[in-house]
Parts: sequence; C-alpha cells; structure tokens
Amino acid sequence: MKRINRRDFIAAAAGAAAFPMPAIAQGDARVVVVGGGFAGATCARALKKLDPRLTVTLIEQSRTFTACPFSNAIIAGLRDLKDQQFGYDRLVADGIAIDFAPATAVDPQDRTVTLSNGTRLRYDRLVLAPGIDLRWDGLPGYTEAAAEAMPHAWKAGEQTLLLRRQLESMEDGGLVVISAPANPFRCPPGPYERASLIAYYLKTKKPKSKVLVLDAKDAFSKQGLFQEAWKALYPDNLEWVSLSKGGKVTSVEPATRTLVTDFERYRAAVANVIPPQKAARIAELAQVTDRTGWCPVDAMTFESKQQPNIHVIGDAAIMGGMPKSAFSANAQAKVCAAAVARLIAGQKPDEPRLINTCYSLVAPDYGITVAGVYQPKDGVLTDVPGAGGVSPTNAPKSTREAEATYANGWFNTITAEVFG
Ligand SMILES: Cc1cc2nc3c(=O)[nH]c(=O)nc-3n(C[C@H](O)[C@H](O)[C@H](O)COP(=O)(O)OP(=O)(O)OC[C@H]3O[C@@H](n4cnc5c(N)ncnc54)[C@H](O)[C@@H]3O)c2cc1C
Repeated sequence: MKRINRRDFIAAAAGAAAFPMPAIAQGDARVVVVGGGFAGATCARALKKLDPRLTVTLIEQSRTFTACPFSNAIIAGLRDLKDQQFGYDRLVADGIAIDFAPATAVDPQDRTVTLSNGTRLRYDRLVLAPGIDLRWDGLPGYTEAAAEAMPHAWKAGEQTLLLRRQLESMEDGGLVVISAPANPFRCPPGPYERASLIAYYLKTKKPKSKVLVLDAKDAFSKQGLFQEAWKALYPDNLEWVSLSKGGKVTSVEPATRTLVTDFERYRAAVANVIPPQKAARIAELAQVTDRTGWCPVDAMTFESKQQPNIHVIGDAAIMGGMPKSAFSANAQAKVCAAAVARLIAGQKPDEPRLINTCYSLVAPDYGITVAGVYQPKDGVLTDVPGAGGVSPTNAPKSTREAEATYANGWFNTITAEVFG
C-alpha cells in the first residue's frame, strides 16, 4: 500500500481547500457531453482517454457532422460537401456512448439532461458544446424563411449548397452582397475569406461581376493581410464598406434581395446575410447564458459562472481573447477534459495555456494566418504578450502558397484527431 508522505498530504489539503466538493469515485462518475462538434467530440474522446473508467455519454442531434472550416471553398466551387462530413464510429469504438437525439432540457439542480426521445440522463459533470444559433430577431426582415432567399451559410450543409447554386445561376455582371455582423460571432475572419473566395470565383468565371461586403465593423481579423491581397488579386471584383462608411445593414427585404443601410439600399443578385449570433438554445435552457446570449465561464476550468457542474466550451462560451474557431474549440475541449477529470478526482486543475491558429484562403494557392497564445489572467483568457502574430505582409508568392498548403494540412489533421 502507498504511504501518504507529508508532501502528498499538503498537496491534497491544498486541493481540498480550493475545491471543497467531495471526490466522486471515478468508476462511478458520469460525464455527459452535449454537442458532437469540434469542441464536444474532442472533449468526449479526451475524457475517455484520460480516464477509461469514466462513463462518457455524447448527445448529438445529427449522425453526420458537417464542418464549417473550408466550407467557403465549397461556395466558390472548389470543394465538395462530402469532404466536410464525418461520422462518429471512432468515438463509439473508444467506448463513448452516443445518443443521436437533440437535448431538449437540462435541470441543473437534479443534474439531468432530457432528450427529445424522452431519455433522461443523470450527470456528475455536464459539458455543453452546442455551438451557435442565429439570432432570428437580430436583423429586421431576416427570418428563417428569408434565409432561403438570402442564405447565411453560417452552419455548413444545405445553406452552403444553396449559396453556391445561387452564385452558379447568377448572370455575369451581377452584384453579390455579403452582410457581416458586429462582434462577437463564429469565425471572425470567415466573412472575409468568403468574400475573397467568391471574388476568386467571379474573377475566373463571371469577370463582370462584383462582391460587396457591407460591414457592421470598422476593423476585422487579419485586415491588413486581406486588404493587401484584395488590392493585388481582386481590384475590380471586391469592395468592402466599413461601419463608418455606412456599411451596417439595418434591415433586409428578402422578396427583392435588398439590403438596407442608413444611407443606401443595395439590390443584390445574390445576397449572403450573416446575421448576429448567440449560444445555441440548449445553453439558454440550461441557464448558463447571460444577457449577451453567450455563456460566461471560469477561465481555468470552463465551468459555468451561472451553474455549478456545467462546463461550456467552443463557440457557445465567452472565452476572453480567444476567437470562436474550430482550432480554439478543440484546444478548449482538451483543457476542459483535463479539468473535469481532475475535479472528479477531487484534485486541483492545472493552469492552462491555449493556442489558436486561424488560416484563411484568399485564393486556392494564397493562405494567410493569425495565431495567438492565451492564459487565464484576472479570471479571463488573455493574450500572452509577445506570442502569436499574423503572417508577414509583402511576403513572396511562395509563402502564401505554403500557407495554403498548411491550411489544408491543418483541416486534415484536426478532423482526423476529432473524428478519425
Ligand atoms: C464559413 C466558416 C468558416 C470557418 N472556418 C474556420 C477555419 O478555417 N478554422 C477554424 O478554426 N474555424 C473555422 N470556423 C469556425 C468553426 O466552424 C467553429 O468555431 C466551430 O465549429 C466551433 O465548434 P463547436 O464544437 O463549438 O460548435 P459546432 O462545431 O457547431 O458543433 C456543435 C454541435 O452541437 C450539436 N448540437 C447543438 N445543439 C444540440 C442539442 N440541443 N442536442 C444535441 N446536439 C446539439 C450540433 O449538431 C453540432 O454538431 C468557420 C466557420 C464558418 C461558418
């Protein structure tokens, strides 16, 4: 039998003081994860790997996951939707129980999750990773029905294909308008990557056409790099209108594909409206959202600040300086899994360091990057000074080509880690 020495005793006592919850015998502990995307699927797998004795159940509403990263390339006709789709067989092989049904309720007091099929699951710790919902009340005129005429394509799948088909059937000379929302939203560089790849499509297939970005912001992710590339590659096909130049869309009229700002009305041949967003509905039902519609969490463990024993990761959470990306979601999931395993064992979680890298394609052979490193500071995840940065400006073609290759490599690596 292992004898407890003084050091072990002090360490255990310190842990107990900071985390007074009694440890749960790990063999009995039940962790439920809601949402099998980049955050949830990673977390479920990491939990099982960290402690195979944990009972890990994943709740996911769809049997096939359709990834958003690289979906802008589908819109531009450079990729097929099936390249974005993944199943859950490997998670089952890892010993994770999966219920394919939407979670419809969470009772934080009883510690239960209810599914649409009536199943009720008890949890010791719940991890919510449900991603985003679009705010259907966030932009006058933009309803679910309006999204059929003016697709958002901000959840990959049918909407992505709809936007692609609209571009394909547009006559040369048409105006494509993208409406970009204010912060925060899923994938900060996403609207600008999309504008770039649509401009690439127009330049190569419909050169008399143009894409106009109407923006609710004056600044955006990787702005200098995007604008440098746009000037070089798409001087006649792409225009960006900032907030202060009147770019904020205040309402839309789907019947005529019209986008209205304070100063002008733009009638589009193809309109891509990316509306304001919030944490997906189940987070609201679990009472872990605040007035912003997103979920405040502890920066060490990602435990909700509103409900004990519920952790929130990925796009649904407020993660300080970390952007809402698949890379971030995957990194947060691993930190969360380690914290949950330690909390269940009655131990103190380690202080994390997290990395994010966001690649964007400006053309198929032109990639740019932003990277950041984050650590908890004063209760929020904050940039580690001097770490991270963006791709160099004025870089040679070979650098941009290399970054496009790295972007592809990143997508293959992360999807293999999460689903393969
Ligand atoms: C056009 C575009 C391009 C992007 N490009 C990149 C990129 O290049 N790099 C990058 O890092 N990120 C990129 N992103 C961002 C990335 O897609 C998201 O940040 C990432 O998907 C967040 O992961 P998540 O697990 O939080 O949410 P998701 O991946 O959306 O997963 C959430 C899951 O929860 C499930 N779910 C929701 N509610 C329930 C419920 N009640 N019951 C059961 N299941 C539920 C959903 O079905 C879904 O499978 C891009 C996004 C877009 C829109």
